Amino acid sequence: MSRNSGTRGSVQVDIIVSNRVAKVTPGGPVMGGLASALLPAVRKSGVVWFGSSGNVRNAVPGAPPLVQVESYGRGTIATVDLPEQHYAGFYEGYANSALWPLLHSRADLSCASADDFVCYREVNAYMARTLAAFGGDDATFWVHDYHFLLLARDLRALGVTKEIGFFLHTPWAQRRVMTRLPQIREIVEAMLSYNLIGFQTDRDRDNFAELLRHDLQIPGHGLTFKTRHGTCRLGTFPIGIDAEAFAESARKAANDEEVRRLRQSVADSALVIGVDRVDYSKGLVPRIQAFDRLLTTQPDLKRRLSLLQIAVPSRTNIEAYRGLQHDLSALVGEVNGRHGEVDWTPIRYLNKGYCQASLAGFYRASSIGLITPMQDGMNLVAKEYVAAQNPDDPGVLVLSKFAGAACELNGALLVDPRDVDGMAQRLVTALAMPRCERRERWQSMMQTLLQHSIHAWFAGFMQELKAPQPNVLPLA
Ligand code: UDP
Repeated sequence: MSRNSGTRGSVQVDIIVSNRVAKVTPGGPVMGGLASALLPAVRKSGVVWFGSSGNVRNAVPGAPPLVQVESYGRGTIATVDLPEQHYAGFYEGYANSALWPLLHSRADLSCASADDFVCYREVNAYMARTLAAFGGDDATFWVHDYHFLLLARDLRALGVTKEIGFFLHTPWAQRRVMTRLPQIREIVEAMLSYNLIGFQTDRDRDNFAELLRHDLQIPGHGLTFKTRHGTCRLGTFPIGIDAEAFAESARKAANDEEVRRLRQSVADSALVIGVDRVDYSKGLVPRIQAFDRLLTTQPDLKRRLSLLQIAVPSRTNIEAYRGLQHDLSALVGEVNGRHGEVDWTPIRYLNKGYCQASLAGFYRASSIGLITPMQDGMNLVAKEYVAAQNPDDPGVLVLSKFAGAACELNGALLVDPRDVDGMAQRLVTALAMPRCERRERWQSMMQTLLQHSIHAWFAGFMQELKAPQPNVLPLA
């Protein structure tokens, strides 16, 4: 690993930027969809992935930030410590207690303090200064996710003129929700400094466009809007996975010790799997309630199926997350207490993360993938579950209609995650589904995943970002 004080000279380079850069230790879990999506793309494409190291330090006024650089496959990973005095207000505060809940349509949980917004602004400006010094004049920046909504404005203020793109991994909620954010005007006006803004679904893109048209009255034509720097285009770019690699990893995982033990313990019964961060957007409570309802209404299913729920602790410094963790443990305890028997536990609840190779094996060992977020940008676990299946005898995906993945995975059984009875009924349908129907549904979903791989997504966005644009915008 080498250290430098931040500049790359004038070599042309593509730099992707996100808050946290995931450096996965071999066999370690990947925390979150953004990291698991970007890692293979960086490894293969040769870009630089720039983000925070996860550490903070007291910024010395006037001193250039230290950037740590290391190679990763054909690409490079570059990290910087973020300023200690603003980090909590930026990360736990504005990003995850104001923006995240609103983006996921939970205005009731959103708390946008003016002090936290100051921290958010400061960290965006700090990242912009670091990036402008690191990238030189020839870098094309592609910024990821809601932590850095202001970054393009700050980069432009520092004289950056090349293309800057942005991709939002989360949903973008309706205008009536987003306008509850006191700072929404400043944020959205800053976002117009991006040349291209990508969303997971047409719904998210259209919610954003409506806000531009109706609340900010930005002149535009279709999905192109006129800005101080030229134009800002909006597009839909549903993120993919490397389905081939995932399928291969699932095949190999059959020999994995933990996967073997799982299979043995399940024997002839059916396993339902859920894999999520402990987050209120993931719909974990109604999911457990649906499983409870199923065992209550169909007691003959006892011992014939169980739920493996991997629930990875997340953002534990935030009260709403700690509260959820507590509620979930209590609920799982109640359900197991009610339906369990001396030699059978209905819900195997694991509060820890697994590496993707093990997950791939767990998915393949499961007859049903139960993925029921209340709102989710995409939900990569849903796609991974499909890719990991045995083509001869695939499992059934039961998927929330509010996951971005539902727009693409047309072979899934869709559910409303608020409808506990409906989810229980869908589980019965999934359990009874004949093999030929399972195969048909799986084939159509797998074809979609292979056609829209993570590598195609990455290249497609970059190509669109760099595509020449007309100077004059025909106004409607
Ligand atoms: N993941 C993992 N180990 C775990 C749980 C999850 O590596 O124990 C990975 C999973 O394979 C997926 C990502 O984390 O790639 C979760 O992405 P998703 O889009 O489903 O949800 P997010 O956490 O980004 O909201």
